[in-house]
Amino acid sequence: SSIIIALDGYSSCGKSTTAKLAAKQLGYAYIDTGAMYRAVTLHFLQNHVSITNPHEVGKALDNIHITFRRHPETKSNDTFLNGLNVETEIRKMYVSERVSEVSAVAEVRHAMVAQQQKMGKSKSIVMDGRDIGTVVFPEAELKIFMTADPMMRAQRRQAELLAKGEMVDLVEIVANLEKRDHIDTHREESPLRQAEDALLIDNTFMTVDEQVELVVRLADE
Ligand code: C5P
Repeated sequence: SSIIIALDGYSSCGKSTTAKLAAKQLGYAYIDTGAMYRAVTLHFLQNHVSITNPHEVGKALDNIHITFRRHPETKSNDTFLNGLNVETEIRKMYVSERVSEVSAVAEVRHAMVAQQQKMGKSKSIVMDGRDIGTVVFPEAELKIFMTADPMMRAQRRQAELLAKGEMVDLVEIVANLEKRDHIDTHREESPLRQAEDALLIDNTFMTVDEQVELVVRLADE
């Protein structure tokens, strides 16, 4: 039967990098739930959906179809919103600025969680997010909660954005990470927290290889 590995934690802790590589080694599918919330946010911004208007939110959610497809050249899992590749767009700073407010809306979460639960029904997965071990898959075989030093996280984020051609001041990135973590941990609907049975990994002084090796070893136990 299928195995679920839940990887939760704060913004820019290196969850996706580790989850992606661990999934590859284990032969599991990797699912980036942050990308789903980012795609919803992009759609809301493009269509001027007001998050305080339940009718507008409901209607918009009915018109949002998110899928992941493997890019033939880069081999990465790209995010598609209603058939359009939005992988680059959803990583930009203007989406990061709004994503936590959109993710705090209960209807948005219910729609995404339902879709995520379906994705784990038939295959083994490594899923990264904020509420995977607490809400999406409370019965996951392995739960990991990742943290890292805030300055380290900001620097990693900056390097990531720069690699994609977006130059952002470190001060602005620190502010964005703090804001998102605050909203994510304080929202009413499934706030970000470590599940009781999740293993805490602080990766401040760990290489990516060490993190992947640890996750794979834990999965094999
Ligand atoms: O993982 P990433 O940093 O791309 O996620 C972007 C945002 O999406 C988070 O800051 C959070 O507000 C939201 N999110 C969430 N629940 C998840 C995954 C992401 O609320 N499972």
